[in-house]
Formats: sequence, C-alpha cells, structure tokens
Amino acid sequence: MDVSGDAGSTEEIPGILHLDMDAFFASIEVRDDPRLQGLPVVVGGAGARGVVAAASYPARTRGIRSAMPMASARRLAPDLVIVPARIDHYRQISARVMELLADVVADIEQISVDEAFLDVRGARRLFGPPEQIAELLRGRIREDLDLPSSVGGSVSRAVAKIASARAKPDGMLIVPAARTAEFLAPLPVSVISGVGPRAQESLARIGVRTIGQLREIPRSALTRALGPRAPEIAALAEGSDRTGLGRRARDKSLGTERTWDQDLSDPAEVRRSITQMADDVARQLRRGDFVTRTVVLKLRAPDGTTITRSSTLDQPTSSGERLREQVVSLWERERSTMCRVRLAGVRAAHLEPAAGSPVQSELNPRAAGWQDLEAAMDRALERFGTRSLERGSTLSAAPDGARRSPPDPAPDTRAGPTGRLDTDGPHPRGPIGR
Ligand SMILES: [Mg+2]
Repeated sequence: MDVSGDAGSTEEIPGILHLDMDAFFASIEVRDDPRLQGLPVVVGGAGARGVVAAASYPARTRGIRSAMPMASARRLAPDLVIVPARIDHYRQISARVMELLADVVADIEQISVDEAFLDVRGARRLFGPPEQIAELLRGRIREDLDLPSSVGGSVSRAVAKIASARAKPDGMLIVPAARTAEFLAPLPVSVISGVGPRAQESLARIGVRTIGQLREIPRSALTRALGPRAPEIAALAEGSDRTGLGRRARDKSLGTERTWDQDLSDPAEVRRSITQMADDVARQLRRGDFVTRTVVLKLRAPDGTTITRSSTLDQPTSSGERLREQVVSLWERERSTMCRVRLAGVRAAHLEPAAGSPVQSELNPRAAGWQDLEAAMDRALERFGTRSLERGSTLSAAPDGARRSPPDPAPDTRAGPTGRLDTDGPHPRGPIGR
C-alpha cells in the first residue's frame, strides 16, 4: 500500500544551486583577446616571484593551478601566456553576473567574486525545476557576457558545491535527493570543503579515502579523526545534510586592511601586522557584540596578485587569541608563495550575535580567560587610546609610510566574506576542480 501520499508534494527538490564561473579571470582575458583561445593562459604576475591567480583550461591540462608560483607554471608550459590581472575589470563583470542571477532568483548568497549559492525553490513556479533554472542562468550569462559557468544542484549547499566542481567546465549537474549518497560515495574526501590535508591524513590512517568509506566507519573513529565537525561531515556523507543558504545575519562581515608604500619582505613583520589586525578585528567584534566563525586573510603581492584564504572555527568566537592563531596559520601556508606583501587584511565573516551562539567559555575555560582579559583590555583601550596597551608580540611600531584603512563594518559585497578571488583551481585545502 502506498502511504507516501501525493508524490508531487513529498518529492524533495534539489533547489540549492551553486553557480561558479569557469576559470573566471582567464576566461575573461580569452574572451577579450580571441587570439588566446586554446592557449595555456594564466593571469598573474610575470615577475620572478609572480603567482598564478587563474589558469585557463588548456593551462590546467598541463598541470597548472592557481596559487602556483609562475616559475613552476612556466616549467610546465614553456609556451605559457601570462596576462597581468585587471582586478577592476573582473569586479565589474562579477557585479554583472550577480545582477543577472538576481533577475531570476531572489535568494542569493554570493560567496566570492565569481560564485554564489542560490535557493531556487521559490522560483520554481515562474521558471520551472532547478535544471531549467540552472540552464536559464548559464544561458543568460553566456548571452550577456560570453563567459562559461557551471552549476551544481542538490538539497544541500555542500553537495551543490561539490556537484558544480564535477560539472566543470561549462556544465550542469543536479543531484536528486535520493541519489546524493550514491553520487558522493566514489569521491575522495578532499572534495568536502574544510577537509584539509591534515584531516585527509587522519582519515587515510584509518583507511578512509572516499566519502563512501567514510560512511562505513564507526562514529567514534570519525570524531577522533575530524573533531567537532564529524557529525556535519557524517550527515553529508549519508546524504542527509540539508544546510541551505546562510542566514542574512551571517553574510555580515567586518575587518581591516592595510597597504604599504614599501612592500613588506620580512615574514616576521607581516606576521606582526596581521596579528595586530586580528586583535583589532576581535575588538570590533566585541564592541558590536558579535562572534565569528570564519576568519579571512587577504594578501596582495606587489604585482597585484591577491589571494584570500579563510579558515572556519569549530566554535564562534570574538577572542583575539583565537583569531591570531587562525591568521598566523593561514599566513604560514601562504608565505612561500607570497614573498613580498603590499597589502594585508584580516576579516571576520559569517558574524553571529554573541548572545545567540554557543558560548565558547562553556567548552574552553582557557579561551574564556582570554575573552575576559580581552574585554578588560578593550575598556582600557577606550580610556587611554589605542597605543597605551598592546601585547609584546605586536609592540613594534608600524613601518614608516604605513597606511591604515579604517575599519569597514559593512558587508563586503565585492568579494564575498569567504571569497577567494578565483576559486576554480584546487585550493590548497579545498575541492578539486578540473
Ligand atoms: Mg570559479
């Protein structure tokens, strides 16, 4: 006997879409100069210390990836075409992409300069099922901007993002709810956003390399390998994750950045500056009664190449200590490719009201101590001005000629809170594109 009722009303719509432009910067350059068609093209600095900001698909087939030193890219493709980045141009096109999406879909969460999550469940009556909406969006972007994009769809944002990476280039892949686990099973655990090299290693030690294998091991083993994110990742592997778009409040971010007239080449100085910025951001958070889960580090090289790296915390926090740890570890990963720094920025994204979040102090007394200490420091700073009280590690004065941008409490709409500038290439810790 069929007890499920009307199939139309119980069917789950894979209406969370992830739209991602293909090799965004490189595709723009090829579009603007058709002679580059079919060639291994990269956008980035041509100098000895240049870094690849984006690579065309012909460059990728030669093994070239974004964030790779230009010298290595040259070795892989002696006929490499290097195009300097035109950030403002890319920004304008990015804004147009987002406009085209907003014409069709009301519920959009832009997560970087060239990608967004869309909840199209509400657009269904007007525009049809998710497949049709995905094709409509890709078609409009192609028609208006002559650029390729890919779309993944699912009942979960995490799976939609994995699907869009599998759809590339210039494709679409919508995963029906009932086939989610089957779709994920053969994929390596590294496609899960946030499962970095360390988590991959711990999983490999217990024989887990694919998402399917991850589903088979006992939860206790998974918790040992993945820590607090284990339940979330287990739900993903089972196909039961239903996380949709972020709440509006979570799109808020705040941060600070700084440009130097003379590039910083001393890693210790960069480290000092970014830890100072982390403290500053933590103070802004506490002043606004916010906590954050996502810490973003932005670095710009003298040639204009900009990278943005983010790290997600297990618990939301407003502790300068925690933010400092995160930015320093992000910096440690990038310092080999960013030998000179012209601009650095620290941003806290996905803000939540401090009162509404699980309080870190309940779980971590040490962090609680820091938060109390820091609240006291905030009060002292307000009374005596910002130079009167600083920790030893940040005491060194800013180098001459340093400019400091004012704190920017507005949501950064140019590149989303977690936005790396180009996200197609395999991120050191992220999903693997093609
Ligand atoms: Mg992209």
